[in-house]
Amino acid sequence: MLSNENIQALDEKYVLHTYKRMPGVFVRGKGCYLYDENGKEYLDFLAGIAVCQLGHCHPAVVKAITEQAQTLLHTSNYLVTEPQARLAKKLCEISGMDKVFFTTDGTTANETALKIAKKHGLAKRPDGDYEIISLNNSFHGRSLGSLSATAQPRYQDPFKPLLPNFKSVPINDVAALRNAFSDKTAAFTFEPIQGEGGVMPVTAEYAREARDLAYKHNALLIVDEVQCGLGRTGHWFVFQHLGVEPDILCLAKALGGGLPVGACLTRGDAAHILKPGDHGSTYGGNPISTCTGLAVLETIEKENLLENAIEMGNLLQSGFKKLGPIVEETRGSGLMIGIRLSKPIARDVVAQALDLGLITNATDEWTLRLVPPLTVNAAEVQKALSIFENVLTAQLATAR
Ligand code: PLP
Repeated sequence: MLSNENIQALDEKYVLHTYKRMPGVFVRGKGCYLYDENGKEYLDFLAGIAVCQLGHCHPAVVKAITEQAQTLLHTSNYLVTEPQARLAKKLCEISGMDKVFFTTDGTTANETALKIAKKHGLAKRPDGDYEIISLNNSFHGRSLGSLSATAQPRYQDPFKPLLPNFKSVPINDVAALRNAFSDKTAAFTFEPIQGEGGVMPVTAEYAREARDLAYKHNALLIVDEVQCGLGRTGHWFVFQHLGVEPDILCLAKALGGGLPVGACLTRGDAAHILKPGDHGSTYGGNPISTCTGLAVLETIEKENLLENAIEMGNLLQSGFKKLGPIVEETRGSGLMIGIRLSKPIARDVVAQALDLGLITNATDEWTLRLVPPLTVNAAEVQKALSIFENVLTAQLATAR
């Protein structure tokens, strides 16, 4: 075993640092807790950034991985396997979509969606004069295609010029959306709750308007539920709650229970745009990740985790509302919660909470994002709330 110092030295020397890491070396996870190399316990309200829906090392996930690893790990997509077929069926059943293309993560799910949108756009406008619309402050990934839809200067500016044919509009501004749509529009893509953008929900009115405009202009409606989907909000999908049907649905994160897997689901005509040879992925939907994906979905059902997400989410939000004027607003639903603070101290709060054994995250200086496992219980919610209360009280005392 390497010492903590040696591991950090290796990381410093050999890993390309594109992330601002938290301190510590983490060695083990169980349920809602992570443990560092000194055995210190951390309540994990980040859950691998909304990935570990079942917490860490849930027995159902471990069993699926272990059994499948002893049976069949990888075949390539030239060969049919049972876990992929079964997960595709399950995903279509819970979403109402028709067909699934498996990817390795959320970015490649979005790339698939954008390639379908581009093919649709070129069919409409063979001269290439089509447009794809996304939302300001969105996040769809950092590959050059998905980054072109990710309308945030901090991610886009170092890589400009990006792909042509993209434009963006402000969230929940129906007039701006109507103005942006035209017969050139190939697709409109949006997160029903923006995650990296600070847990900003799209209103039902806005989503329905987008659906109508997409039908009217023969454009595809792409819903990116990579972060908010698969039970996080207490519904399988947020689009179901909003009452709209996507043509394309992007999923990832929670799907693999910690293994890298994503999916681009299609419905209706959008399911027939990509033809054999148009797209592919060596690892997408391999037996181990799809077998695990099925175990994740079945466990969410078996353990009534959708109900738990709503109950625990309400407990968290009402707890925050009691913390006084430092909490300006609570946003989101189920266990995807954004806390807007009345002072720009969110990053300091995250650092101090970590010292006190709580892992959480800030999307900017003002906003805390909480995405704990859906298995979290009331005692763990209370523990997190009391750590937040301590940290916020200390922060306010030093600010005085
Ligand atoms: N789309 C959304 C809504 C996301 O939140 C993310 C990641 O945070 C992505 C796409 C990219 O997913 P990945 O990091 O798995 O490639």
